[in-house]
Amino acid sequence: MSVRAGIVVTGTEVLTGRVQDLNGPWIADRLLELGVELAYVTQCGDRAADIEAELQFLAAQGVDLIITSGGLGPTADDLTVATVAHFAGRDLVLDTALEARIAEILRTLMAARGGEVDFEAVMAANRKQAMVPAGAQILDPVGTAPGVVVEPGPGRPAIVVLPGPPRELQPMWPRAVETAAVQQAIAGRTVYRQDTVRMFGLAESGLAETLREAESRIEGFAELEITTCLRRGELEIVTRYESTASDAYTALIDLLRDRYPAELFSEDGALIDDQVAALLAGRTFATAESCTAGLLAARIADRAGSSAYLAGGVVSYSNQAKVDLLGVDPALIADHGAVSEPVARAMAEGALARFGADTAVGITGIAGPGGGSAEKPVGTVCFGVALAGRPTLVRTVRLPGDRTDVRERSTTVAMHLLRGELLAQRSG
Ligand code: ATP
Ligand code: MG
Repeated sequence: MSVRAGIVVTGTEVLTGRVQDLNGPWIADRLLELGVELAYVTQCGDRAADIEAELQFLAAQGVDLIITSGGLGPTADDLTVATVAHFAGRDLVLDTALEARIAEILRTLMAARGGEVDFEAVMAANRKQAMVPAGAQILDPVGTAPGVVVEPGPGRPAIVVLPGPPRELQPMWPRAVETAAVQQAIAGRTVYRQDTVRMFGLAESGLAETLREAESRIEGFAELEITTCLRRGELEIVTRYESTASDAYTALIDLLRDRYPAELFSEDGALIDDQVAALLAGRTFATAESCTAGLLAARIADRAGSSAYLAGGVVSYSNQAKVDLLGVDPALIADHGAVSEPVARAMAEGALARFGADTAVGITGIAGPGGGSAEKPVGTVCFGVALAGRPTLVRTVRLPGDRTDVRERSTTVAMHLLRGELLAQRSG
């Protein structure tokens, strides 16, 4: 027996695409982990009638659980709690303990902000947030908006009402799942495992063929629910299975490991970014970027804690900048062109010297749409990876796609080359 859920994402800003929906996909992942089948994600604006229509639609489909996001704030366009109460046939009642709790949060917030504020006026505006469906379970606010859980009723699913801002919604989720109402709604679920592996340097078609082979060779293969997708130039393979199919999954991984020893870089779902971050610990890293103009440094800096190893980077877009800032010999550029392995090497080594680093990457390429030639078409990108005490590695690749793709993919290629060199140095 499977348990099904629906998500209602509310908010005119999300509906119109001005804010990208982060909550639907995030909750979808959590439901998957729980073993609850997600049937629908619906979106509507901040209109009570539309929100209620979606609740009715989902209830009519027989889902066991509905999760809503957004519309819990103090303003007039925040209507979700009142709408859910109406839908569930519950009165809206003032929860005085909750009101006191919100007042306390507001006092702290306002004290931190300082200045003259009319506390009573703010409290009046926020009293609305302490109005909850009678009998509902309250989820303590993360910001100022409490979440609400309404238990299932005859012909009506359990409803979890969560705030819109992802930083408020996410911490509330575990507590919502613990409530008796949600536990009751999801009691009949199947528990799945989900594992992710990642590959690089392999076409999806090649993998498809290996999967066909796996189908005929591995007993219980049909029990594995496999999804593959291309992300940032890598292949992500997510497999969902019941514990009874663990052996089939192990056999699949053995087969992939055997067929793609070089391409299979992550068996535990870790991202290349996680792996590179771990390998850079204790080192000093610098970049010299032409075509990507800082994207690699930015990607490295996306990790919290990267300041421990990221020294800096040079965006050397012009030839002159390559010469002046990285000490690239102008003769190299004249003889081989700015997009060439000798220049990529000189850039990486220049960054190494300039930053006093022990690890550096140089990137120079043609992102397009102009600037290509027969010999060096658009998408040609040269890399240099310099590690102190090792000969610098250089590589040229030809990347597909438009300007954005080429620049983005270049950072992925650089990450993989860097990983390879750091691992090679480690193993001596
Ligand atoms: P608030 O008290 O901040 O008004 P709320 O629960 O009423 O919270 P909304 O008014 O729907 O939430 O949204 C507030 C903000 O939260 C939005 O402007 C948007 O920046 C962010 N947000 C809301 N929903 C989403 C979503 N689905 N994905 C990403 N961000 C969202
Ligand atoms: Mg709001």
